[in-house]
Amino acid sequence: MPSSAAVVPAGKVVVLDPGHNGGNATNAALINRPVPAGRGRTKPCNTTGTATAAGYPEHAFAWDLAQRVRDLLAARGVRVVLTRQDNKSVGPCVDRRASIGNESAAAAVVSLHADGSASAGAHGFHIAYSAPALNAAQGEPALRLARTVRDKMVAAGFATSTYIGSRGLSARDDLAGLNLSQRPAVLVECGNMRNADDAAALSSAAGRQRYAAAITDGVLGFLG
Ligand code: ZN
Repeated sequence: MPSSAAVVPAGKVVVLDPGHNGGNATNAALINRPVPAGRGRTKPCNTTGTATAAGYPEHAFAWDLAQRVRDLLAARGVRVVLTRQDNKSVGPCVDRRASIGNESAAAAVVSLHADGSASAGAHGFHIAYSAPALNAAQGEPALRLARTVRDKMVAAGFATSTYIGSRGLSARDDLAGLNLSQRPAVLVECGNMRNADDAAALSSAAGRQRYAAAITDGVLGFLG
């Protein structure tokens, strides 16, 4: 994207990928069709995501959070590309989301989600990265991005997951967006929407601003 170089001092592009979409639930045929997921597998184009017990949907959370992170990064001169432009459309499919990161030559790709575990007491955030790495970007750069965002989230007071991964990090070989990425990419599961304490933070504007600030700090730390 050469045209962005003149207006962004750092020349860095960050792709934010808000999980799911508000139109997915009413377009099952579209989102259930199989698409390439990396490692020779296929996966459904997209999914509907989870929700809090009170009915606040993950897609709305992810969309709101992405806008907050976008604004904070843009204020620091980072050019931000979103994988979707609203919260009422369908998709895009997971392979297309990965392509947007690749085509944007993103310095970092951050997918934004919240989890939906029914396990009693399960709470906290975790950050998924592709492993075993399928290319150089998925190796040290992606792991460093994951660790940097993890550290900033911990510093901001967010608890690491009690039920997935280790110390807030989770190695995954089954997430299409990460498998297909040729850029440093991570997927942040900000918390468990089915846990009352996490849901309170995820559901409030103040809570989402705290998540956004911590994730932004992590991305800036990685870029720096
Ligand atoms: Zn999700």
